[in-house]
Amino acid sequence: MTSMLDRIPGAEPFPGSAAARTFITEVEAFIAGDLAALVSRHGITHESGAPRAVLDEIWQLSRARGFYGVTLPKSLGGAGFSVLDHVLIKEAIYATGSPVAPHVLGELSGPPRVGALAKVVSANQLERFVVPVAEARQAICFAITEAEAGSDAGAVQTRAVRDGDHYVLNGAKRFISGAPFCDLALIIASTSDDPARREVSAFFVERSTAGFAVEAGYKTMAGQAGTGNIVLTDCRVPVANRLGGEGDGLRMALGRITVNRLLHCPAMLGHARVAFRDALAHANRRQQFGRPIAQFQAVQHMLADMATELAASRALMLSVARGLDAGDDATDGASMAKLFCSETAFRVADKAVQVLGGEGIVQGSRVEFLFRMLRMYRVLTGTSEIQRNTIARTLITA
Ligand SMILES: Cc1cc2nc3c(=O)[nH]c(=O)nc-3n(C[C@H](O)[C@H](O)[C@H](O)COP(=O)(O)OP(=O)(O)OC[C@H]3O[C@@H](n4cnc5c(N)ncnc54)[C@H](O)[C@@H]3O)c2cc1C
Repeated sequence: MTSMLDRIPGAEPFPGSAAARTFITEVEAFIAGDLAALVSRHGITHESGAPRAVLDEIWQLSRARGFYGVTLPKSLGGAGFSVLDHVLIKEAIYATGSPVAPHVLGELSGPPRVGALAKVVSANQLERFVVPVAEARQAICFAITEAEAGSDAGAVQTRAVRDGDHYVLNGAKRFISGAPFCDLALIIASTSDDPARREVSAFFVERSTAGFAVEAGYKTMAGQAGTGNIVLTDCRVPVANRLGGEGDGLRMALGRITVNRLLHCPAMLGHARVAFRDALAHANRRQQFGRPIAQFQAVQHMLADMATELAASRALMLSVARGLDAGDDATDGASMAKLFCSETAFRVADKAVQVLGGEGIVQGSRVEFLFRMLRMYRVLTGTSEIQRNTIARTLITA
């Protein structure tokens, strides 16, 4: 009999397409082979990250093997996978436990950042900004958050003031993924003359532009330094770099927010599966009181709860993916999935730490890292509270 937990990439029945199944087999072999060798050669850990030159090597390797650009539209060389296939592929990549898993598809700075933009950029922007990112020659980051604009993203105070054929940008962004190693940024700024009126626009800004500075060097609680701030001081940007019209920025930049919310779920569940696997292996191996701790009912119950929560959150994720493929709006479903997967993945990691005992709380143990990593997903890309607000809005009419 196939158990719920067998219904995971790597075991049948596989719910995606045959092409996705083949892709997963090939990408897993790539990660276990060439990529693992590269990780070992450069001593990369989950927390050390990799210098830009090594990231370039990873992106190019992945591109040469046909993986890097798979999420792009077909016109740019993408595979045209469904949302369902996409979540299965991402989950499988993260479930390998590789410290460079996010870079295989270029999630922080590559094709997934520009794929949806390809349809809305000008021909000039496609050539200058989208294609170089799609081809792994450049890295882009996506900068909305500011000191006074977090959950309320439309409250950005970075100003873009028109000056002839240019805009002059001033402001400061914070917590921007990939900023430390980016070549360009999509900057969200206000083009309103009136502080009371929100008019948010988006601009491609090259790092080489005078007045563009990246402040890096701080770490998130996961111990990673891939997040940085961007300070813009009288940064002159050609009008041709504006995405769409004035006031279109947030809508265009966040155009795929529903799909993007869902697409964070496979990363969380992939991480959580690694924590579960480590806990299960430890429970079977570790002997106390003359027997494996897996024989104690208290430990069995923790493992049973982990398996149940993984299966339930995965079922929700796959159901929302199928809905999106069928043309559903899925605003509520994507928020439910993001909320539920982030909260359950963290609980799974918490139990994994408990099953590992002292070994689980020593820095350097993988579940200890995953516990910290998975805590962050309850804040990233819309906190759990913001997801609940979105869900509630679809319910309440009063
Ligand atoms: C590792 C990392 C990577 C990130 N990457 C990026 C990136 O690439 N680009 C980018 O632009 N940003 C990025 N961010 C920023 C992230 O999107 C914000 O941190 C997030 O949206 C929350 O904003 P905030 O931190 O200002 O918290 P706040 O908005 O100040 O929220 C603080 C608390 O108040 C609650 N709260 C706020 N408003 C409401 C409300 N209306 N109802 C109920 N509760 C509310 C929140 O849920 C939270 O608990 C990143 C953050 C991290 C940690």
